[in-house]
Amino acid sequence: MKPVVIIGGGAAGIAAACTLAERGKRILLLERAPRLGGRAASFFHHRMRQEVDYGYHILMRCCTETIDLVHQLGMERSVSFQERLAIPIACGSKRSLLSSAPLPGPLHFLPSLMRYRPLSYRERIAVLRAGLFLLVHDPQKGRTFADWLRCHGQGKNAIARLWEPICIATLNERPNAVSARAAGMIFKKGFLKPHGADMGLFTVPLSHLFSRAISFLAERGGEVLLNAQVAQILIEKGAARGVKLVSGERIDSDCVIAAVPPHDLLPLLPRAVAENGYFARAKEIRFSPIVNLHLWFDRPVMEEPFLVVIDSPVQAVFDVSRIQGKEGPTHVVLSQSAARDLINHPNEEIWNQLLAALKELFPAVRTAKLLDALVIKHPCATFLPTPGSEALRSEAKTPINGLFLAGDYTATGWPSTIEGAVRSGRTAAALV
Ligand SMILES: Cc1cc2nc3c(=O)[nH]c(=O)nc-3n(C[C@H](O)[C@H](O)[C@H](O)COP(=O)(O)OP(=O)(O)OC[C@H]3O[C@@H](n4cnc5c(N)ncnc54)[C@H](O)[C@@H]3O)c2cc1C
Repeated sequence: MKPVVIIGGGAAGIAAACTLAERGKRILLLERAPRLGGRAASFFHHRMRQEVDYGYHILMRCCTETIDLVHQLGMERSVSFQERLAIPIACGSKRSLLSSAPLPGPLHFLPSLMRYRPLSYRERIAVLRAGLFLLVHDPQKGRTFADWLRCHGQGKNAIARLWEPICIATLNERPNAVSARAAGMIFKKGFLKPHGADMGLFTVPLSHLFSRAISFLAERGGEVLLNAQVAQILIEKGAARGVKLVSGERIDSDCVIAAVPPHDLLPLLPRAVAENGYFARAKEIRFSPIVNLHLWFDRPVMEEPFLVVIDSPVQAVFDVSRIQGKEGPTHVVLSQSAARDLINHPNEEIWNQLLAALKELFPAVRTAKLLDALVIKHPCATFLPTPGSEALRSEAKTPINGLFLAGDYTATGWPSTIEGAVRSGRTAAALV
């Protein structure tokens, strides 16, 4: 039996592979990197002798397919969910808690919104009104979220201190660049439903979680090849016939799932196919950067496991040591989304600027000894859900027989997330 070949061992490829393997298909998963996980992978940091995630990730409880995949892999202890949403927020010296009360949605947000100190009482009422409107009316297509917010009575302060931090954290871009539809979807699924936005924090490095797919597939007759870069998808007479690896090896298959981002997919296709409108339009999808600053201190520096920060160069800080229950030095990550300005700065500048801001937030940083620092830049971290970008997202079924697409950028209706990737992989698997 020829295998189903899956190109790309990110969340999308893994989800497709596990679904098909459970249905009795023979799977060959090809990943060019030495580990699984793709953008949600980790590596061994030699100086501090520990696994570090390339990009710091969180889940929300509305990411139901990802939670299901984690269970399928038997790794449910690798993510820890809040019983009830509670996001500690720092604004100057004030601390607020955006939390969910045991009330039906969207009333569950009411008590914490009414106590939300970065906004005036009037602004809180206006936020409530806009939130309720969002719940029942889908924003028009083609409109930016900033435009929608202004038209629904949201002033500069409410945007800067409430809507924008949530928009940046979930869509990796500011409200003036994202579509109101995409933002509306996040607020509806996550924040306006009780428990939708409960945060899930990974208690293990991400590659530990995703590497479990190797044994999962092996137990079902499948195989994962790491360091296996595909050079070409072989297409003959309008049908997929397999792949050719960079090593020159040819693998025959009548069914190929390409679970790689568009910039990696197009060079694998014969030129005439890549230039076909179906595939070519994905070239227009734009991406947004994220910068992570990892710091190791000789002692704990923060009280909360994580903190969202407004009115500061710092956006969000996570105490990874506490979240992962690690012994030894304190490892914190500063996750800076929509980092278009920051990404071109030299690493030393980034770390000096953010470290200075961190000292303002946590006085313990001033006396703690900094043991190591590491800046990781992701120029193409997530695709940008700009107005109109939905039309650029490819369906899983392609005009080529036996060739299917998966990946967070495909037409899942979800933003660029692990959840979108998992859903895309499962959709492609269902078509096979
Ligand atoms: C810094 C950062 C922070 C993020 N934070 C979050 C978050 O908090 N929550 C969230 O849900 N999402 C987050 N995301 C987004 C999330 O990581 C992605 O949406 C998701 O991982 C995409 O999965 P994918 O399988 O579609 O693509 P990828 O993860 O990009 O996987 C594609 C895989 O294909 C492989 N590949 C490419 N070309 C070839 C080839 N020719 N041959 C073989 N293999 C190939 C690549 O090596 C890669 O492993 C974040 C991303 C980044 C970068």
